[in-house]
Amino acid sequence: MIDSHAHITAPRFDDDRDAVLDRAEEAGVELVVCPGTTLADSRAALDLAHRHRLVLAAVGMDRDAAADVDGGAIDRLRELADDDRCVAIGEIGLDYHYDRQPRDIQRAAFEAQLELARELDLPAIVHCREAFDDCLPMLETAGVRGVLHCFSGDADTALRCCDLGLMISFAGQVTYKRSDDLREAARAVPSQHLMIETDSPYLAPQTVRGKRNEPAFVMHTARFLADLLGLTLEDVDRITSTNARLLFGLGADRERTIAYPIRDSLYVNLTNRCTNRCVFCPRSAAPRVKGHWLGMEREQEPTAEEVIAAIGDPADYDEIVFCGFGEPTLRLDVLLEVARSVKQRGGRTRLNTNGQGDLVAGEPIAPKLSGLIDSVSVSVNTADPDQYAALSRSDYGGRAYDAVLEFVRTAKQHVPHVAITALDYPGVDTEAVGRLAERLGVEFRSRAYKHLG
Ligand SMILES: [Zn+2]
Repeated sequence: MIDSHAHITAPRFDDDRDAVLDRAEEAGVELVVCPGTTLADSRAALDLAHRHRLVLAAVGMDRDAAADVDGGAIDRLRELADDDRCVAIGEIGLDYHYDRQPRDIQRAAFEAQLELARELDLPAIVHCREAFDDCLPMLETAGVRGVLHCFSGDADTALRCCDLGLMISFAGQVTYKRSDDLREAARAVPSQHLMIETDSPYLAPQTVRGKRNEPAFVMHTARFLADLLGLTLEDVDRITSTNARLLFGLGADRERTIAYPIRDSLYVNLTNRCTNRCVFCPRSAAPRVKGHWLGMEREQEPTAEEVIAAIGDPADYDEIVFCGFGEPTLRLDVLLEVARSVKQRGGRTRLNTNGQGDLVAGEPIAPKLSGLIDSVSVSVNTADPDQYAALSRSDYGGRAYDAVLEFVRTAKQHVPHVAITALDYPGVDTEAVGRLAERLGVEFRSRAYKHLG
């Protein structure tokens, strides 16, 4: 786990700073990002980062120090940032709740440091309280990447931030009884934007509320988020750590992934090739799902033996799911061989497909799935063939939609559970897909296109 924001330089840690960091490591924290709030505090954060391998630093002057941000201060920050233990400019930002400095002075200090972040190509660690209408346009204009730390907005605001490519970091507040809006925001944030922090020594999570907060307590918030989002603790760890690594330029895993766990299922990545080029698909830009890297060149595509070895014991999972960013039926022989092995060992199998396998094979493939695949989920996406063509951009053009529906009909005769999914994409009539499912006699699910995996 990475605690992406903890003020370990605070005087409240003077008596036991090393013990606090040892406890964090014992609890499973691998990195702590310590931001600066003033020039002196930024220096202290860097000193600590050089003394302790768990700590990385950010340098910045916060809204309370806004009056001190002048040309000279920016020059000092630039010098401090030239350090391999410095990973960001922060924390910087606006606070219109306390208004401890005049707002125009806060904005000027924020703008100057955003400009520095852009110049140095560093991410910004942003504090924003009751100031989103000023803060977000400033971030958009500056064009920097960054994180909204200790996020305090609602779901709509969170999605506006995500649309700007920003990360959203949740602190202990999300665990408090009155934080329903914050929990709604956490559910709305796509996993590729999710980060976690303690904001130590402040805001200890509910289970340890009233105590001085410390990085080890990030686990309380992580467990809470896992429950809230229907994920495992491992999922939350992988997601938030990967996002923090990507944001802070620490290098995230890009090894070939054949099998990848999410929740209690194991997903199988057979290929990146697809007969669709869906307008909403991030495959070409960032083939990552819930922290798993799924990028795969054609020559890296795994053999059936490799997949079977990567799966291990299928009884360890609810389901083995053929999925990934590519279309699994493009590798039908491997898919069937792996499915046979999983079934022989008592596992359950599911196929997530775009439903164009018949076109690829030149014949109906559903009979071959019989006895090997327990459930099929087909991305029909919309009940409107023209909209389907526009959204999915299939290699098979206008022929694709009818072929998908024909696959659904035949799959129903050979596979116990068949579902079609609609996409909650702007302009898609998901209820019409529900009625289509009724007519076809299959299950129906709506899929949130921003939420992968
Ligand atoms: Zn802070």
